[in-house]
Amino acid sequence: MFLPQEIIRKKRDGERLSRDEIAFFVRGIKEGSVSEGQIAAFAMAVYFQGMTMEERIALTEAMRDSGDVLEWKSLHLPGPVLDKHSTGGVGDVVSLMLGPMVAACGGYVPMISGRGLGHTGGTLDKFDAIPGYDTAPDNELFRKVVREVGVAIIGQTGELAPADRRFYAIRDVTATVESIPLITASILSKKLAAGLEALVMDVKAGSGAFMPDYEGSRELARSIVAVANGAGCRTTALITNMDQVLASSAGNAVEVREAVRYLTGEYRNPKLHEVTMALCVQMLLLGDLAATEEEARKRLQKALDSGEAAERFSRMVAALGGPADFVERYDDYLEKAPIVRPVYASKEGIVQAMDTRAIGMAVVAMGGGRRKPTDAVDYAVGFTDFIEIGERADGDRPLAYVHVRSEAQFEEAQKRLREAIEIGEGVPEKKPMVYEKIAREDVTL
Ligand code: URA
Repeated sequence: MFLPQEIIRKKRDGERLSRDEIAFFVRGIKEGSVSEGQIAAFAMAVYFQGMTMEERIALTEAMRDSGDVLEWKSLHLPGPVLDKHSTGGVGDVVSLMLGPMVAACGGYVPMISGRGLGHTGGTLDKFDAIPGYDTAPDNELFRKVVREVGVAIIGQTGELAPADRRFYAIRDVTATVESIPLITASILSKKLAAGLEALVMDVKAGSGAFMPDYEGSRELARSIVAVANGAGCRTTALITNMDQVLASSAGNAVEVREAVRYLTGEYRNPKLHEVTMALCVQMLLLGDLAATEEEARKRLQKALDSGEAAERFSRMVAALGGPADFVERYDDYLEKAPIVRPVYASKEGIVQAMDTRAIGMAVVAMGGGRRKPTDAVDYAVGFTDFIEIGERADGDRPLAYVHVRSEAQFEEAQKRLREAIEIGEGVPEKKPMVYEKIAREDVTL
């Protein structure tokens, strides 16, 4: 038997906590026997004192075990159960293509995704833009779609890591979100509760990333790889470029449209393609679906070229209640904004940099995201045809097209967009889309 205040004191003084102490505290978070004040004090102590990898693993496992843990063994699936998670970006529509692409290569992807957070878009909000698509099916349907289609992208089912829900809500209002051990445990407890065999983490770096600098992104990636592998889930992380909007569009319906066009081959933004392929390749390697990167890449390209990946997406949408002909007729089904108009730069020149976070916030301000959890989302609004760093903005090339409902919204979006995109004369350095891979062998457990 422990006392919560003794556990907080130990951590405050920089001591290590045992697995049992951590498990006791997490049980208290879930059951309510640890008070909000104690959770806040614990979070602040961890914020300042950190946690060893062993402590992080214990915290992650205790939070994972605070609710349901999904199991897939009883389905006797003929391939590995895999997933990808991103720390969040703007125009990051990767999941919509990656799930079907990996399924087309023999993986099983039960993807439990989230809503938009801060300036970042949420995969769940994107699927809610598809009429009829049920992001909250019962467990039986979820399992059926994973088994039969190979991929199901939905929201939380049942009670996955309920301790994290309470813990996160308290961190959010006590300035303790930005702690790498706590972020690691929060993300991984939810992912590991989905019963995965392997996970690929996309840790973003740059002006639209959750972490403020490259070193922070790397530290988070290393922490996640060490803790996930330590908790028995084969995990690799890629650190990817979030210096600009990843896809050509940012918003909900407009990103779904881009995802379908990507899958059918109508249009593939090269930045988006590079990041999507790199993450898919790592998933095939972790799942033993390919022996080399080259083989994985070939299989994935074939899944796209043959139409198999688009077919998987189509079947997933239909199986979860969306239109059976969504891939063919997406333009008829997705909601459109009444005003679609280009925004030109205030002066001509070459795009030097983007404040991607500010662009994400511009989407939120249009109604494409939430300011508070109870807000309704406007699926139709957003940006399309985004300019890229290094491109010339002039009277022919707008910064982007804005999709809005009113003149006032257009004015505001135009102002925000112009402020977020820096125009100059020099040719900016071209940065890679994938900076670094961090695999199990790169970290000490
Ligand atoms: N996302 C999460 O789920 N948890 C965190 O702590 C931060 C980002």
